[in-house]
Amino acid sequence: MSAPGAGAARAEEFATRLAAVRTRIAEACRAAGRDPAEVELVAVTKTVPAEDVALLLDLGLETFGENRVQEAGAKVERVAELRPAARPRWSLVGGLQRNKAAAAARWADRVESVDSIRVADALDRAVRRLLETGGRAAPLPVLLQFSVDGDPRRGGVPAADLEPLAEHVARCGGLQLRGVMAVAPLGMEQDRAFSAVATAANRVRTRFPQANTLSAGMSGDFESAIRHGSDVVRVGTALVGDRPLASP
Ligand SMILES: *Cc1c(COP(=O)(O)O)cnc(C)c1O
Repeated sequence: MSAPGAGAARAEEFATRLAAVRTRIAEACRAAGRDPAEVELVAVTKTVPAEDVALLLDLGLETFGENRVQEAGAKVERVAELRPAARPRWSLVGGLQRNKAAAAARWADRVESVDSIRVADALDRAVRRLLETGGRAAPLPVLLQFSVDGDPRRGGVPAADLEPLAEHVARCGGLQLRGVMAVAPLGMEQDRAFSAVATAANRVRTRFPQANTLSAGMSGDFESAIRHGSDVVRVGTALVGDRPLASP
C-alpha cells in the first residue's frame, strides 16, 4: 500500500509532466503551422499500474497505450473498477503475436501494431467472433506498423510489403484500416526517419483515403514527428517518468 498522500503527490507530478508535454506539442504545432487540436496524445502506460492510469484519466487524458496484451487486459478491468464513470480508450502499441489476438480483441479500441497478414487474420477472426456474440459492437480500427529500416527484429512491415498488407487488411471484415504507425529506429536521424514514415503513410492513404491516421513520435522525438505530419503521438516516459513508482 502507498503511504497516505502518495496518490496526491503522484497526481501533482503527472499534472506537471502533462502540462510540459502539452506545451511541447503546442510549440511543435505552432512551428509547423498546425492546429494542436489535431494531434492526439496517447499516454503510454505500459510501465505503470492501474491506479496511475486512473490519475491520468482524472487529468483529462482519454487514450492509453499498452504493449503487453495479458497485463493490459487486467489493467483495463482494474481501471474500470477504479473509475466506473470514465470511458478510457485503449490502444495496443506493442508487438502482437497470433496467440494473443483473441485477448487483445477483447479490450483494445485500436491496434497500432499490425505488421503481418498472419497477425491481421488472427485479429480479424477474433473480432468477427466477438461481433457475432455481442462482445464487440464494431470492427476494430487498426494501424499498420511500418518498419523504417526493414529490420525484422523490431517489428513492423518493410516498405515493400506495406501496400500488400494494406490491401489485405482492407478486405478483413472485422478490421478497419485507419493508417500507419512507426517507431524511429535508434541511431537514425529523426527527421530522416519520420520523412520516410510520412512517405509510406501517404502511399497507404492515397490508395485508402480512410487510412488517414499517422501515429509517430514518442517522448524523445515527437516534435520531429509532428513536423512530418503525425496525427498521434505516443508518450510514455515524458508523462509518467522513467520507471513505475517504487513499491515500499
Ligand atoms: C514505449 C512505447 C512508446 C512510448 O515511449 P516513450 O519513449 O516512453 O515515450 C511509444 N510507442 C511504442 C510502440 C512503445 O513501445
